[in-house]
Amino acid sequence: MSAGGRAAPRDTGALAVLRRLAAAPAPVAAAPGEQCELCATEVAAEHRHVVDLERRTILCACRPCWLLFPEGVKTRYRAVPERHLFFPGFALPGPQWDALEIPVGLAFFFHSSPTDRVVALYPGPAGATESELPLAAWDDVVAGNPQLGQARSDVEALFVTALSGAVPRCWLVPIDRCYELVGRLRQVWRGFDGGAEARAVLADFTDDVAARSRPAERGSAR
Ligand SMILES: [Zn+2]
Ligand SMILES: [Zn+2]
Repeated sequence: MSAGGRAAPRDTGALAVLRRLAAAPAPVAAAPGEQCELCATEVAAEHRHVVDLERRTILCACRPCWLLFPEGVKTRYRAVPERHLFFPGFALPGPQWDALEIPVGLAFFFHSSPTDRVVALYPGPAGATESELPLAAWDDVVAGNPQLGQARSDVEALFVTALSGAVPRCWLVPIDRCYELVGRLRQVWRGFDGGAEARAVLADFTDDVAARSRPAERGSAR
């Protein structure tokens, strides 16, 4: 899932990485013979990733390279962790969701340390859209759900679904899963709400996230 190849239309801002990854035809599941982008070792189809904070992209990594960049080490690269968490008591009143100005019923949110902003990424008719959130609006969501504070900058995202008629839900996921879902949705999205095929892809993704998740502990400890 190298970001190489397709040029992004505007390669600026914290989320060039997301734009490029969302444009990649086969996110996460690597083509046969794909290599670790740090040492050129061949990697399996399911493999790990590291975030390159300097180039703002994600690199495929073999396990030994991934282990070089653990949490807390301040280097150019950050290993994308594997944990998935579910927030059972997640509260998102309608007005709070509306204040985030997300036009569809799901979005990923993450903190970008290069810009020190919280960024939203969501699918739509024009492909993946990314936006820096109104700070106060996001602060309100976290104030109501302090356990969300344990998401790690740059490498973990909060996946929120607020589909009409359903209770809003939230999971913490590795950031490469954002790229995976947005890339898959990009190929099937029809019209404004995505259509039946997009709903099926979303349901499949949500089931997989739920199966991998354990409930988050209360509090905001990292
Ligand atoms: Zn490697
Ligand atoms: Zn990869």
